[in-house]
Amino acid sequence: MKYINKKLTIEKINFQKIAYKFGTPFYSYSYFKLKENISNFKKSFRSFSPLICFAVKSNTNVNIIREIKKFGLGADVVSKGELMMALKAGIAPNKIVFSGVGKTSDEINFAIDKKILLINAESLSEIKEINRIAKIKNKKVIIGVRINPNTDAKTLNQISTGKKENKFGVNKNTFYEIINYCNNSKNIDLKCLSVHIGSQILDYRPYEKMLKTVSQILNKTNHKFEFVDLGGGMGITYNDKNKQLNYKKYNTAILKFLKRHKVRIIFEPGRSIIGNTGTLISKIIYVKDSGSKKFIILDAAMNDLMRPALYGAFHKILPVTKSNKKSKKPYEFVGPICESTDKFITLKKFQVLKERDLIAICDVGAYGMSLSSNYNLRPKLVELLIKGPNIKVIRKRQKHKDII
Ligand SMILES: *Cc1c(COP(=O)(O)O)cnc(C)c1O
Repeated sequence: MKYINKKLTIEKINFQKIAYKFGTPFYSYSYFKLKENISNFKKSFRSFSPLICFAVKSNTNVNIIREIKKFGLGADVVSKGELMMALKAGIAPNKIVFSGVGKTSDEINFAIDKKILLINAESLSEIKEINRIAKIKNKKVIIGVRINPNTDAKTLNQISTGKKENKFGVNKNTFYEIINYCNNSKNIDLKCLSVHIGSQILDYRPYEKMLKTVSQILNKTNHKFEFVDLGGGMGITYNDKNKQLNYKKYNTAILKFLKRHKVRIIFEPGRSIIGNTGTLISKIIYVKDSGSKKFIILDAAMNDLMRPALYGAFHKILPVTKSNKKSKKPYEFVGPICESTDKFITLKKFQVLKERDLIAICDVGAYGMSLSSNYNLRPKLVELLIKGPNIKVIRKRQKHKDII
């Protein structure tokens, strides 16, 4: 995205023109940014060519997953719906891993029938259930076990998953108990140790610590693992003040790990692949002066982009048409929904905005549309894939009649 003659553009197409054609609000994704992200990710870890499984929950649009598949990525899914979507997008079952603390019997059944690469189990009870189902089917099912390394990912509390108080994974002792259980089962083949300590991680040191813990755990067992799945969580720069994750240091730590443990590495990145490709364009319905500040009331709301309301997450806002006039009062960008948390951000300094102006909410490709809802019976937004100069509708705007 950049300004050309004071107009914000994506792959050289003016957002204003896209808005005329498709209405507001809308989500757009840059194809070239997606391509660049995947290429950079691969380059960062090329010395050991990992299996990269895109975390489908970050963006569930089938056309996006199809594009990602064309670059050779697999999928990390967390429900039957996501598994069905990954298969529909054409991802090969032997590149799909299934994570999650509460897989139902129906989901396990389906995953076994589809012959996916791994079911990453998160409790002894789940493994017993997989064993029960595999026995009935007279099959040997490949699984992974997710451990909880008790590592603080130094990210928002709400998106931290690797501390012992979090519900995810199993502790060391349970892990060894599980290895025993699997070695005594004819229907389970334990091939993977998996771990995922959280999301939006910008400091490589938690990863380093996590690898140390995993290495120590592996050193205390003779079980031969084929894979180590390191999860995702690589952060992106939402804020100009954010430091970028040091991929070099992370790669070095993994290479050190691989010297001791001959395994294939799996990654499950979501945000780092799709996050910065997405932009939400919204129109200002009203400007309301409340004395000390002005409310910029948008046609997009928390149901369209939930991250600020859900985690207090920051998203940069840009004017679609730039001007040099500065506002005298702070602006509070809000949606029309009947909740006080329906607020994107308050900015002390911004250019003067008026009713019907457009603004761009940046970096919404991950956990944007996939977390959206029909709250207040608002139809879901149209999604566009921009492959300059082509604009492709990859999901139609819902109509009221679809939801009434
Ligand atoms: C959410 C999730 C991911 C993806 O996390 P990102 O921060 O988007 O990279 C990967 N693995 C598991 C198990 C997850 O729950």
